[in-house]
Amino acid sequence: MKTFCILSAFALVGTCATTKYTTKIQNLKDSITIVDSTLVVKYSNTITAKELSKALYIISSDTFEGRKTGEKGQKLATQFLKDYYIKEEIASPFGDSIYYQTIPESFFSNNIKASENVLAYIEGSEKPNELIIISAHLDHLGIENTGEIFNGADDNGSGTTAIMEIAQAFQQAKKDGHGPKRSILFLHLTAEEIGTQGSLYYTQNPIFPLENTIANLNIDMIGRVDNIHKEDKNYIYLIGSDRLSKELHYLSEKVNNTYFNIDLDYRFNAENDENHYYSRSDHYNFALHGIPVIFYFNGEHADYHKTTDTPEKIDYLLLQNRTRLIFATAWQLANQPNRLVVDTKNQLLLN
Ligand SMILES: [Zn+2]
Repeated sequence: MKTFCILSAFALVGTCATTKYTTKIQNLKDSITIVDSTLVVKYSNTITAKELSKALYIISSDTFEGRKTGEKGQKLATQFLKDYYIKEEIASPFGDSIYYQTIPESFFSNNIKASENVLAYIEGSEKPNELIIISAHLDHLGIENTGEIFNGADDNGSGTTAIMEIAQAFQQAKKDGHGPKRSILFLHLTAEEIGTQGSLYYTQNPIFPLENTIANLNIDMIGRVDNIHKEDKNYIYLIGSDRLSKELHYLSEKVNNTYFNIDLDYRFNAENDENHYYSRSDHYNFALHGIPVIFYFNGEHADYHKTTDTPEKIDYLLLQNRTRLIFATAWQLANQPNRLVVDTKNQLLLN
């Protein structure tokens, strides 16, 4: 399943062009040079199961009442994130201690109250105008009619804590004199569960120009194992990586092959996939603006969107390794010499 997209691209060009096409793929792969490998290993090792677990037990605790958009629990969650970034001395792009992008009630329907995206930011040292966005939604489903709380540990406490740890690793590197060359925005989105409204609002009201946003790595559920992978859990689904930039796809693979060897499963990236995951989480609003995206996802499981999605069911070592992969991919995007090439129409390989 791993080669699905490459195979479908082969089908497009026909057999006579196959050699040329494979040469182009090889040339593209060869053109990607892994940067700063010693530093990447050093700082990815600061991302640990223990710290992820500590934060995830908090964010998915009953105190946060299922983090329903606009409600008290969601506000507590955004406050928790803001306090974290202040403590970690990671700035907000707004300056001072304003970490919120407030979305007014008028933006929503169905009596949803005003809500907030949370933004933290590390400015690039050499190309500050070029931006990588690492995103995950912070909201969830609130409280069940029975009074039971939707803790949303995997959905999406896992992505939320992954960003916290990735931000901390980049900040530690910066303190040591190894800050990213391009800027990085850590974007905790609200209102995903009611139709990716937080990312829609951000892309309609971007804090940094979308034309300078070179990639979006979006994380939504990376702490569990689905039925397909019960026997070998060292996997993650990647969706979207080759749609708008072939370079992103091969860069992501090269980073993984260099450091982690996680099974990158592309089955849900198939254009005709009936689940339509490509359009179902926040990255899609960035893709609609031509920004290359990767969506990281563990697939659905028995506790998906149930009150039983609780923190003791998370595999923290797995969460750690997947988070490290995303960190290392972001590091490569932020620090490699060239800006990621967008080839929406597959120009890199077909011309
Ligand atoms: Zn989700």
